[in-house]
Amino acid sequence: MVKQTIQIFARVKPPVRKHQQGIYSIDEDEKLIPSLEIILPRDLADGFVNNKRESYKFKFQRIFDQDAKQETIFENIAKPVAGSVLEGYNGTIFAYGQTGSGKTFTITGGAERYSDRGIIPRTLSYIFEQLQKDSSKMYTTHISYLEIYNECGYDLLDPRHEASSLEDLPKVTILEDPDQNIHLKNLTLHQATTEEEALNLLFLGDTNRMIAETPMNQASTRSHCIFTIHLSSKEPGSATVRHAKLHLVDLAGSERVAKTGVGGHLLTEAKYINLSLHYLEQVIIALSEKHRSHIPYRNSMMTSVLRDSLGGNCMTTMIATLSLEKRNLDESISTCRFAQRVALIKNEAVLNEEIDPRLMIKRLQKEIQELKDELAMVTAEQRTEALTEAELLQLEKLITSFLEDQDPESRLEVGADMRKVHHCFHHLKKLLNDKKIFGNNTVSNTVSSESKDQDCQEPLKEEEYRKLRDILKQRDNEINILVNMLKKEKKKAQEALHLAGMDRREFRHSQSPPFPPGNPEEGQRMRLSSAPSQAQDFSILGNRSSLLHKKTGMREEMSLGRQEAFEIFKRDHADSVTIDDNKQILKQRFSEAKALGESINEARSKIGHLKEEITQRHIQQVALGISENMAVPLMPDQQEEKLRSQLEEEKRRYKTMFTRLKALKVEIEHLQLLMDKAKVKLQKEFEVWWAEEATNLQVKSPAVNSLDHTKPFLQTSDSQHEQSQLFSNKSDVNARKILPSPCPSPHSQKQSSTSTPLEDSIPKRPMSSIPLTGDSQTDSDILAFIKARQSILQKQCLGSN
Ligand code: ADP
Ligand code: MG
Repeated sequence: MVKQTIQIFARVKPPVRKHQQGIYSIDEDEKLIPSLEIILPRDLADGFVNNKRESYKFKFQRIFDQDAKQETIFENIAKPVAGSVLEGYNGTIFAYGQTGSGKTFTITGGAERYSDRGIIPRTLSYIFEQLQKDSSKMYTTHISYLEIYNECGYDLLDPRHEASSLEDLPKVTILEDPDQNIHLKNLTLHQATTEEEALNLLFLGDTNRMIAETPMNQASTRSHCIFTIHLSSKEPGSATVRHAKLHLVDLAGSERVAKTGVGGHLLTEAKYINLSLHYLEQVIIALSEKHRSHIPYRNSMMTSVLRDSLGGNCMTTMIATLSLEKRNLDESISTCRFAQRVALIKNEAVLNEEIDPRLMIKRLQKEIQELKDELAMVTAEQRTEALTEAELLQLEKLITSFLEDQDPESRLEVGADMRKVHHCFHHLKKLLNDKKIFGNNTVSNTVSSESKDQDCQEPLKEEEYRKLRDILKQRDNEINILVNMLKKEKKKAQEALHLAGMDRREFRHSQSPPFPPGNPEEGQRMRLSSAPSQAQDFSILGNRSSLLHKKTGMREEMSLGRQEAFEIFKRDHADSVTIDDNKQILKQRFSEAKALGESINEARSKIGHLKEEITQRHIQQVALGISENMAVPLMPDQQEEKLRSQLEEEKRRYKTMFTRLKALKVEIEHLQLLMDKAKVKLQKEFEVWWAEEATNLQVKSPAVNSLDHTKPFLQTSDSQHEQSQLFSNKSDVNARKILPSPCPSPHSQKQSSTSTPLEDSIPKRPMSSIPLTGDSQTDSDILAFIKARQSILQKQCLGSN
C-alpha cells in the first residue's frame, strides 16, 4: 500500500498581453517547497478583495512558470503517475482553473503544433512504449472517454454519435454494487492494442465533443471530461490479474456564477457547473477535515466517478492552471486556495489484484472432486455406479504409461476411488495372464529363428574381419567430421534466421511501419513507387479522415454555390493559416520519412550482404582446415573481423534510422489528426454561419439591396459577439476561436485592404446572367451564396473604412 497526499502543481499560462509584470513571483529557494506569491495592485486591493491584503502566498509541490514546455510538464507531473499505473496502482491527474487558464492545453494539448501535445497523447506514447519493452507480462489496454455536462454523463466514444445528437444517446449512469464499487452503465470500453489506436480514440472523442457543441452551447467550458486508460496485466501461467486505471481529467471552468452574470438558460448552465464544482469542493473540504465520517460523494456524478481518486485507492495529482492577469487575480487566488485544501487529502493506493475467475473455477472444481473421492474412501462409502467408458479408457492409458515407465519409483495414481483401484488390479491381472500365454510363444519363436540364421551363415575369416573393422573406423571418423561441420552450419543458419526474425519482429512492432519488412522484392517496389505507397501506408489515417467527414456528412452533398462559399469561408478563417502550416510540416515529414525509408532499405540489404559474406568466409575457413588437416581456428581471421565490425556499424545505423522513422510516424499521425479535427471544426462553423446567413436574408429582404443587409448582419454579429464573450469569460481569444468567423482573419484583412475587395470577389456577371442549373435547391443555394457573399464584402468594406 502507498499512502500519499494529493500532489499539487501550479502552471502559469503565458499572458495575452506581455506587459503585465509584478503581479506574481515564484520562490523556489525555500527549502524544497516552492511558493507562489500573488501581489495585488493597490487599486485592486481596495476593490473586490475587501480585506485589503496585498499579497497572498501559496505552496505547491512545484510551480511551472509561463515558459514551461509541455515536455517538462509531462516529465515532472504525468510520467511518475503513469509509472505507478504500470505497476498496478490507480492514478488520476486533474486540471483545475478558470476558463482560458490552460486546462485543455495541459491535459489534451494545443491544436496547432506537434510539440504542443498535452499529457494524454504523451502518456499514451509512454505507456505503450513501456508495454512493448516488458515481455514478462501480458497486458491489455482499454480506453473510455466520458463527458459530464449538466450532471448527465455522455459516452464520447459511443459509435452511435455518427447518427445521433448528444441528447439522443443513452446517458451514462452510475450503478453501485453491494461493495459500494462504482460501475458506469452505457460507457463503452474500447480495446487499444497500439498507441495509434488509442490516439484515434482520443481524437474521435474530441471530435464528437466538438460536433455536439454549438456556439450557443459551448459545452467545452462547462463540462468535465474524463479520459481513462484501463490497464490489465497478467504473468503467463499465473491466475492473478492486476487492474489499474488512469483518469486524465479536464474539469469545467472554475469561474463563479456571480461574475458570469447571465440569465435564463445560461444561468441554469452556469449554476449547474458551479453546482458540480461546488460539490467537488464540499467533498474536498469534508476529506481535509479530520473526524468527518460522511463524505458527500453521491451528491454529484463527477464526485461519484472520481470517488477513488479523492481520498481513496488512487495516486492523485492536481494541476492548478493560472492565468495571472490583473482581471483574473481573484479567480487565480480562489484556484490556489482550492489547491491548498486538496493538498491535505490523504489517499491510500493498493495494488488491485484479483484471481482470474475462469482459472479459479477450474481449480475449485478439481479440488471438490478430490475431496469427494477422499471422503468416500474415509467413510467407506461404496460407490456402486459403473465407471464410464471415458474413465476406463483413461485408467488403461495410465496403466500403460506406468508399465512403460523405466523409473522404479514411479507410481500409479488413480485417486481415492475404490472402483478405480479395483479396475486397475483387474486390468493388470489380465495383462499378466496374456503375457504368460504369448510370452511363451515369443521365446520359442525367437530361438527357432536364431538357430535358422546361424545355420545359413559361414564363420568369418580373421583377416577379413580386421579389414572391415579398419574401414568402419575410417568411416566413423569421416562421419564425425561431417557431423561437426553440419552442426556448425546449422548453428550459423539459426543465428542468421534469428537475426532476420528480430528484424522482422522489430518491423512488426512498429505498428504498421511505413515501409514493408525484409522481403527484397517488396523493398524494390518501395523504392520504385514512393508516392502511391505513402498513400497506402497511411491508409488508416485516410479511413479515419473519411470517418470524420462522414460524421459531419456535409461536404459531399454541398451544392456548387455552397462549395464556393465554403472555399471563401475557409480561406478567410483564422484557422486556415494553421492548417496550411501543418500541411507544409506534414509534407516535409513525409519526404523525410520517405528518404529515411529508402536509407533503411539500403542498410538492410547491406546487412544482408555482409552477413552472407561472413558466412561464406567462415565456410571457406572450415573447408580449408579440413582439406589441410588443420584444426579450425577458434578466432575469426582479420578479414572476418573487419566484416563483422562493418556489420555492427551498419546495424547501429539501421537502428538509429529506424527509431527516427518510428518517431516521425507518430508525429505524422498526430499532425494528420490535428488537421482532420481542424477541418471538421471549420465545416461545422461554416454550416452554422451559412444557416445564419440564410435566415438573415430570408427575414430581411428578398431583394438584393446591398446596403440594406449591412445593418441587420452587423447587429446579429455584435450581439453574438457579446454573448460569446459572456460564455467564454470575456476571453477575446476564445471568443474568436469559437465564433464562426465571417470576418476575415487579420492576415486576409491585410490582403483585402490592398486589393479592392468588391471588385475582387463580387461575381462579375449580373445575377440574371448566372446560368442556373434548374435544380431549385441548387439554384437557391447559388443565389443565397451570392447574397451572403455580398454581405461579407460590405462588412469588409465598412471594417476597412
Ligand atoms: P481552458 O481549457 O482552461 O479553458 P485552454 O487550454 O483552452 O483553457 O487555453 C486557452 C488558450 O490559451 C488556448 O488557445 C491555449 O492554446 C492557450 N494556452 C493555454 N495555456 C498555454 C500555455 N501554457 N502556452 C501557450 N498557450 C497556452
Ligand atoms: Mg478547456
